[in-house]
Amino acid sequence: MPVTGPGGTPPAAGPAPAGQARSAILTVDDDPGVSRAVARDLRRRYGEKHRILRAESGGDALNALRRLKLRGDLVAVILADYRMPQMNGIEFLEEAMDVYPGARRVLLTAYADTGAAIDAINKVDLDHYLLKPWDPPEEKLYPVVDAMLDAWLASDHQPVPETKVVGHRWSARSSAVREFLARNQVPYRWYSADQPEGQRLLAAAGSDGRALPVVITADGSVLVEPVDAELAGQVGLATTPSKDFYDLIVIGGGPAGLGAAVYGASEGLRTILVERTATGGQAGQSSRIENYLGFPDGVSGAQLTDRARRQAAKFGAEVLTARDVVGLEVRGSARGVRFADGTTVDAHTVILATGVSYRQLDAPGVEELTGRGVYYGSTLTEAAACAGQDVYIVGGANSAGQAAVYLARHARSVTLLVRGRSLEKSMSYYLIQQIAGIGSISIRTCTEVVAAAGGDHLESLTLRDTSTGTTQTVDAQLLFVFIGAAPLTDWLDGVVARDSRGFVLAGPDLAAEGNRPSGWVPDRAPYHLETSVPGVFVAGDARAESAKRVASAVGEGAMAVMLVHRYLEKA
Ligand SMILES: Cc1cc2nc3c(=O)[nH]c(=O)nc-3n(C[C@H](O)[C@H](O)[C@H](O)COP(=O)(O)OP(=O)(O)OC[C@H]3O[C@@H](n4cnc5c(N)ncnc54)[C@H](O)[C@@H]3O)c2cc1C
Repeated sequence: MPVTGPGGTPPAAGPAPAGQARSAILTVDDDPGVSRAVARDLRRRYGEKHRILRAESGGDALNALRRLKLRGDLVAVILADYRMPQMNGIEFLEEAMDVYPGARRVLLTAYADTGAAIDAINKVDLDHYLLKPWDPPEEKLYPVVDAMLDAWLASDHQPVPETKVVGHRWSARSSAVREFLARNQVPYRWYSADQPEGQRLLAAAGSDGRALPVVITADGSVLVEPVDAELAGQVGLATTPSKDFYDLIVIGGGPAGLGAAVYGASEGLRTILVERTATGGQAGQSSRIENYLGFPDGVSGAQLTDRARRQAAKFGAEVLTARDVVGLEVRGSARGVRFADGTTVDAHTVILATGVSYRQLDAPGVEELTGRGVYYGSTLTEAAACAGQDVYIVGGANSAGQAAVYLARHARSVTLLVRGRSLEKSMSYYLIQQIAGIGSISIRTCTEVVAAAGGDHLESLTLRDTSTGTTQTVDAQLLFVFIGAAPLTDWLDGVVARDSRGFVLAGPDLAAEGNRPSGWVPDRAPYHLETSVPGVFVAGDARAESAKRVASAVGEGAMAVMLVHRYLEKA
């Protein structure tokens, strides 16, 4: 059952109307009678100042929180029942914490579950547990919620004016800006330029609406069609190193880079991580990672990597976003990294954790419609736009399978277009099973996209059946592409040895028949993750022969730091 607002109606899907800055109180209980009763009691006392939302499962409540987050809405208090099937109240609150760390958390328990509630105080930083029944609410419920609201208001999570993005649904740059903000966990509110509120904002910003998007930051600055670096600087993301010299520069903020930053900083190395777009890398775009150790119920990539980013920052790593590294220089014992704007930063050591980037779908019309109905990744940002739509996904590997499962929750139908004869060779068994259990997903094997067409947005796809050679044109507004990835490492050319596909060679893979790499000076063989340049290491998907998994990327990030220590001790 979905989340409902006042009077049992679902909360509005679009941005909140102008002037509506009410923070939400969310309650989740699998018993519909109890759920209604809690919401009714809350509404009676807090309904005027707060939006009261209720859900009947942890999953629905999390979806609602994520939607609220994307819209930049505020959540003040979350009340969760402990005993719920699939996901209990503590598990739910643990995940909810990642979405709204500042919201106050209350667990509703029966007397028999007091022990679990006490455990939850440590696990999910529980603010309060409330024994059921809570009648009369004046005595048992309201004093608790009052105290929670006071604490929330006194904290720095009280309402902050959020960034506003005014754009066009089918503008590629509008879509990229939303993706950038969402992936960097910057709350924003989206306004369509053809809606009255969007037009009012454009007028206030002095824009005629011809150049979109227009971004209005929390302090009221207006940015027209901003590039990522400009946007990052204005919304408070660090973009400039605070020092000239570090012990360790980590390039790339995916799982490998975040792993390296956490271990490097926690072990006392002056560490800086430099990321081109947003931390999280490929993993940050995964709707559900189910095979990462320690998360038996799966974890969204955004959640996992946001935790890692916070962890790296907690240990003192500097994290720069929207900074593209375009060169690596060796200057004596220093290793220098050059940014796209020509500035540089130096360190004793470097870890390359640049992963891989989506391969582009090569068919007429696709490039022109990218960001306007054709998306690479982006499933999390565009999910809301899929509501009631027929969605196509190209790809037969796990990333495509995860996207299909995730988008099936929103879309009317999802069609997976797979070039091979079956999914078995390319997709994990658990995902194939999940897909088989979802009626709205269909699979077209032996199928490739040969053209995309449309005016200001995607309108149709031409599909070819590779077994018969026949083509068919289908109406389509949304196409998500997951057709593998390539390392974008050309900028390392002539400095670091790579294989024929651009993956970085390291350790034993560097030594042709036992020989050391050409130009190698130290009186030792390269360490396991060390590249052809001493003191420069590689971790994760960018490494030749790597496993292409979150766990191995994180592990290699940690291991590379251990080798950095060894290098520094002997240098
Ligand atoms: C949709 C999806 C679902 C997935 N699901 C799973 C799963 O369920 N389980 C699993 O184990 N694996 C999964 N994977 C694979 C997993 O995400 C990757 O193996 C993992 O992210 C690799 O981590 P990495 O840090 O090596 O590289 P990446 O995650 O690719 O991160 C590299 C980062 O480096 C940045 N970068 C690149 N070049 C530069 C540069 N020159 N300057 C600055 N920054 C740069 C990029 O912007 C990127 O953020 C999935 C992948 C995708 C795409």
